[in-house]
Amino acid sequence: MTTDKCLAVKQQIVEAGVHMIRTGLVYGTGGNISARLPGMDHFYITPSGMAYESLKPEDIVGVDYDGHVVEGARRPSIEHMMHAAILRGRPDLGAVVHTHSTYATAVASARLPIPPFLETVIATTGGREIKVADFAPAGSRELAEIAVRTLGDDSAVLLANHGVIGLGRDLREAMAVCELVEKAAMAFLLSRIVGGPVLIPEQMVARQAEFFRAHYGQGRGQ
Ligand SMILES: [Zn+2]
Repeated sequence: MTTDKCLAVKQQIVEAGVHMIRTGLVYGTGGNISARLPGMDHFYITPSGMAYESLKPEDIVGVDYDGHVVEGARRPSIEHMMHAAILRGRPDLGAVVHTHSTYATAVASARLPIPPFLETVIATTGGREIKVADFAPAGSRELAEIAVRTLGDDSAVLLANHGVIGLGRDLREAMAVCELVEKAAMAFLLSRIVGGPVLIPEQMVARQAEFFRAHYGQGRGQ
């Protein structure tokens, strides 16, 4: 992997951090972001407890899949074991974004999975619900294991009493998943106030998911 390509990944993480704080997906120094390129034997992750708007590419830390720092002078995010565990088991992934957005955290604190009640949820999950991973302390190996187990091959999971993890082939995709989960959580909670949401019948969910799979977007690699 050339230095230029690695620097580009670190720069993308810095920019994603600024986006995350400015759009209210996290507050203060909360949340964390990791990304990698295909074939990399490590990944890059945000440092622990540093303000997103002050980050420079050299503050981003290289970590291997056992959680050891292999590049950089900063301490990595306390959730680096969770990112390592997710990325190790999912070669399809290029990025992991972890946020503390308000509505998703509220739903996660009520331990309510988000059903596929909106077309945007169906498009993102393939018609599956967004599950809630059981509670474990932030930064623990236990949380890493629970998150991986609950995720399976899904692209999003709520962390009980904590926040959201969104996954993608790249940072743009992983960030979009976190944004979708926040919007869906807000609509889900508001709908519950007025007695909803009425769920879409399973067959229709499956039909919609298949339609999105076959027809939505420009296809891979375009
Ligand atoms: Zn967190």
